[in-house]
Amino acid sequence: MKLKLHWQILIALILSIPMGMFLPKLSIQTAGIGDVFLSALKMLIIPLVLTSIISGISNINSKELGRVGLKTILYYVSTTTFAILVGLILVNIFKPGVGVKLANAGDTSKLAEAAGSFGDTLKNIVPPNIFEAFVNADMLSIIFFAILFGVFLSQIEEKHKTAVLKVNNGIFEVMIKMVNFVLKFSPIGILSLVATEIAEQKDITSLAAGLGTYFLVVLGGLLIHSFVIIPLILKLVGKSNFQKHFQAMVTPLLTAFSTSSSGATLPLTMEAVEHKAGVSNRITSFTLPLGATVNMDGTALYECVAAMFIAQVYGIELSVIQQVVVVITALLASIGAAAIPMAGLVMITVVLSAIGLPLEAVGLIIAVDRPLDMVRTAVNVWSDSTGAIVIAKSEGEELNY
Ligand code: ASP
Repeated sequence: MKLKLHWQILIALILSIPMGMFLPKLSIQTAGIGDVFLSALKMLIIPLVLTSIISGISNINSKELGRVGLKTILYYVSTTTFAILVGLILVNIFKPGVGVKLANAGDTSKLAEAAGSFGDTLKNIVPPNIFEAFVNADMLSIIFFAILFGVFLSQIEEKHKTAVLKVNNGIFEVMIKMVNFVLKFSPIGILSLVATEIAEQKDITSLAAGLGTYFLVVLGGLLIHSFVIIPLILKLVGKSNFQKHFQAMVTPLLTAFSTSSSGATLPLTMEAVEHKAGVSNRITSFTLPLGATVNMDGTALYECVAAMFIAQVYGIELSVIQQVVVVITALLASIGAAAIPMAGLVMITVVLSAIGLPLEAVGLIIAVDRPLDMVRTAVNVWSDSTGAIVIAKSEGEELNY
């Protein structure tokens, strides 16, 4: 009997802990396996997103597109705001930063440059050169181009439209097959990725140095958001079954956790939401690539808690207005964060500068960033997938649960 893939992944994940701890050399020597797995996933993203959006959008008329687009944005902004509020409440109750010493801050010299401004993010949506956007994997630009292409494809002469769609949909189907093929290697890829990560962790003592409570507050917030808020939305708005949806999403969630990249996980998220949940390509093609890029509930919650934590460490009491600024900038930072590992850590500089805190303070939280990144990435993917369900249901689609 063959073990189901998500069990294989779970076993790999469990094995990766002793492997990373007791065989650190071997783990680091075999890190290439994880890298190849990650590259294989990334290799699929652009052609998958492009063909999927074009096929989905060309099936939708412009009125419907406006409606679905509006619902999608509403879902993204409201769930992300809920997540931030959960973080804000917890950080105000537990005050993890009070009494923490300002020692051992890590190096943060490159973070501020990498963050860029929110205005730049918006401006860059329209790429001056689409090939450059492909090369740099600028997802927002690629999504923008694909949506426009799909919209105008449906307006050209029938014979040309059919010809382009035939090729496009053919490539899309090949991409899905390739995703399924790469998926087969996920247990070994994940084993390697996580074992290497554990083998390279030097600084476990940092948890004792006052970061423990901060770590638990972020983690607790992420869990509350995932297992209370999102299920409520799924039930009340999506009229859907939480348990079944969770089961359907196990593979992408474990992959998100292991890779810390919602972008790299996107092919698997699309596969699961379309084939396990039964959401149409018309909805997934639009909501999921966009969601992976801009909808980051986990990241937003983390931005808020981290900024508040830093303020507490510096002994600064933030006024209500300043806390509102934290909420707004955490939302913007999560939208601007790329769907790659550590993007959230880079974007925290946006929140800190908005409330006038020193950027070097990010050094305080670097030590525990990676494990939090793993969890917040899974939460990001979890919210994206729920969004697709909620929107599909609101459009009257019959799903598998
Ligand atoms: N790694 C996260 C993601 O890909 C972003 C972050 O660093 O918060 O969703």
